[in-house]
Amino acid sequence: MTSLKASHAADLVAALLFILSLAGLSQHRTSRAGVVYGIAGMALALVATVVVAARSITAGAVALIVLAMALGAAMGLWRARRVEMTQMPELIAVLHSFVGLAAVLVGWNSYLEVDSHGSAQTRIGANLLGIHHAEVFIGIFIGAVTFTGSIVAFLKLSARIKSRPLMLPGKNALNLGALAAFVVLTIWFAISPNLPLMIAVTALALALGWHLVASIGGGDMPVVVSMLNSYSGWAAAAAGFLLDNNLLIVTGALVGSSGAYLSYIMCKAMNRSFLSVIAGGFGIAAPSGGEEEQGEHREVRAAEAAEMLAQARSVIITPGYGMAVAQAQHPVAELTRQLCERGIEVRFGVHPVAGRLPGHMNVLLAEAKVPYDIVLEMDEINDDFADTSVVLVIGANDTVNPAATEDPGSPIAGMPVLRVWEAEQVIVFKRSMASGYAGVQNPLFFRENSSMLFGDAKQSVEEILHALSTDSRHDAAPAARQATVASH
Ligand code: NDP
Repeated sequence: MTSLKASHAADLVAALLFILSLAGLSQHRTSRAGVVYGIAGMALALVATVVVAARSITAGAVALIVLAMALGAAMGLWRARRVEMTQMPELIAVLHSFVGLAAVLVGWNSYLEVDSHGSAQTRIGANLLGIHHAEVFIGIFIGAVTFTGSIVAFLKLSARIKSRPLMLPGKNALNLGALAAFVVLTIWFAISPNLPLMIAVTALALALGWHLVASIGGGDMPVVVSMLNSYSGWAAAAAGFLLDNNLLIVTGALVGSSGAYLSYIMCKAMNRSFLSVIAGGFGIAAPSGGEEEQGEHREVRAAEAAEMLAQARSVIITPGYGMAVAQAQHPVAELTRQLCERGIEVRFGVHPVAGRLPGHMNVLLAEAKVPYDIVLEMDEINDDFADTSVVLVIGANDTVNPAATEDPGSPIAGMPVLRVWEAEQVIVFKRSMASGYAGVQNPLFFRENSSMLFGDAKQSVEEILHALSTDSRHDAAPAARQATVASH
């Protein structure tokens, strides 16, 4: 009795620590404390769970639990130490799939252990048995949708499959039909539980999860990742009901609601309908336009780019995923410092979904000690491009694509973008003419005022720094060379 009370108290403290963790993680300044609260809450929850379980199971079973925890912790540490910042969303997608799978297994276990041994009636009471069966079904359904949905998200984010949306004929009817079938199956199962219905709902939910995420493509993937985060929370909460574990219910609800809110904020930033995205791209027409090139592009070399910068009045840098891949943030910060010393105004324009996870660019720029006050959000800087001498697009592509505002048939149509093309000159740092994450060609590259600086972004910025230092040593700028017109 005492240990049960102690375990309830531990659950309460762990839940409070998780809430403190979320609050801490919402600001740069307090984020480290947020992580510590989260670790403390999880450690407490694990210890309390094992201690309570140890009262009713054998020493051998406790040893197995501890062994499983040690193995899981070792694997988690190994992955977390090796993962690159750019692979973070993939890792998160894989972790969500584990939560989904766990919820499915808990549901199946609850059915096989409790129902088929007939102990359900005595434990739960005949009146509540229907509700228990509905819980089993809901847990399995949310868990299986999360499981396959997260696997598709992982495959898309790691470029193992194309990020373009799958457009099956009647895809909206398929999704709605699956939901209606789930409701019917749940009522049926609550009245008369049986194994074929368990298999049917699991298969239905696995297929629906796969189809929901496969139907969402390109620019909407960031919302999908946070949506799956939310689903994994609800899957955990459903497992909490089945296991009679209050902490799991509270934690699942925290993850579920914060993930849903993040998805909503991201949808607003990307001008997307929240309901349409969570319903697997409901109502979104098949996109036109693809990866084909749309004209001729110009190329510049690093020395020419340095020359343009040296003569600029104002510069805006718009970083993207390529800056993260190249790890170019440190030379970019150095370039910013040197240009500022020359009296040139330098600012950054950060798109809400630049990179591969929310806040990706802000983290990299903060790591390179770029002052916060020159790092501006898209809405704060978008009107200033027209009055800017040079824009450096460093490894960004979809987030600076004019097709989003000009081509209604584009897969990223309607997504707000940084209007870099309004500046006098735009220099695009990338390695080739390849498209960005959404798989759409970028008309920016073929504009009169755009030039491509091909190569790894870090190396290109370092070459510009070198050219600027040579330029200031000799104090004699070479005449700007005519940009080479090239067709790739
Ligand atoms: P993009 O993914 O659109 O483009 C990145 C560009 O960087 C590519 O065109 C690539 O071109 C270039 N690049 C890659 N490596 C290097 C390198 N070493 N040096 C120089 N350039 C390089 O990036 P954005 O940041 O503009 O857009 C993000 C996209 O990712 C959006 O579509 C967004 O919806 C999606 N997304 C965002 C998430 C988020 O939460 N932020 C999560 C999931 C998806 P090349 O190969 O020619 O070098």
